[in-house]
Amino acid sequence: MNSRDLDTPFDRTSPVFADLESKLGMPDLLAWIDDEALLTARGSIKSTAVEVTASVLARHNVNALFFSLDVPGQAYITEREGGFAIYVNSGLPELARRFTIGHELGHTLFLERGDCSRGRSPLQRHNDPVVEYLCNRFAAGFLLPRAPLERWLYQNGFDPGYPERSVHLLPRVARLFRVAPQAVARRVFYHLAAKRYAIVSLRQRPEKDWVVSWCAVPGDVQQMAADLRFALPFRSGRVIPQEYVPVTASTFASDRTSLHGLWWRGVTPKSPRETRKPMKQWPYAQRRTAWVSRINGRMYVAMPLSEGESGSPTPVA
Ligand SMILES: [Zn+2]
Repeated sequence: MNSRDLDTPFDRTSPVFADLESKLGMPDLLAWIDDEALLTARGSIKSTAVEVTASVLARHNVNALFFSLDVPGQAYITEREGGFAIYVNSGLPELARRFTIGHELGHTLFLERGDCSRGRSPLQRHNDPVVEYLCNRFAAGFLLPRAPLERWLYQNGFDPGYPERSVHLLPRVARLFRVAPQAVARRVFYHLAAKRYAIVSLRQRPEKDWVVSWCAVPGDVQQMAADLRFALPFRSGRVIPQEYVPVTASTFASDRTSLHGLWWRGVTPKSPRETRKPMKQWPYAQRRTAWVSRINGRMYVAMPLSEGESGSPTPVA
């Protein structure tokens, strides 16, 4: 799994966040990032997907974009001729490469011009988790710009009050905007709709069983897992036994379904010992309502998380 594809845990109460809002003079930093990302993307939208064009780079004072297999990690930004240069690992798959360039472009918002050693806030640490989160927000806002994305979603029946009824749209958005579907899920559910849902994508293997392809959970659940040093059981590769796979999924809509309660344990941080157990050995849990769509050998499940519940390491069975 590509770590850049995941929402990093994010603490909105961090002094870095408040100081950035004050230094940048932006009372709503997240809305400002969305606006900046749209301004960067505008003019570089080819059909639906945003391209990394010369004007995109120029707007962020990036005067060179280098691709090399020698780049450590995924990418980094450095100073060059009064502006910045971005180095990208050329081994990255296309979608990860696009997102990672968006992330590095985001860094320029939080650095003094052409100076990688000076952040906009003196409180910023090297690899500050708040800044890393904000750069991921920028990347999502750049590749899935709010206004064009919302226009497309509304034309296709999306209701921001009920994003779970449009879970079937996630793979279409991913294809049109050329963004990984898990990034689309986070953008739609967490950034646009501000809903606490876990989104799980399954794929069917030739032997006909289903495995977890990816799982998106809200930032606070990830934060809890990180703090407890526990993992989410629905990591990619987790086998879902046939009796827990919903049967009523349809392709062109999202179906309301009664889903086995164990699914919610799969998106709850668990000790490594428990995480390794097969799903069938988890304690019983009551069925609950979720939304599901099945498309070309894949399944997308949207599971509502009520406050506090998903974050508990040991929910009552
Ligand atoms: Zn970064």
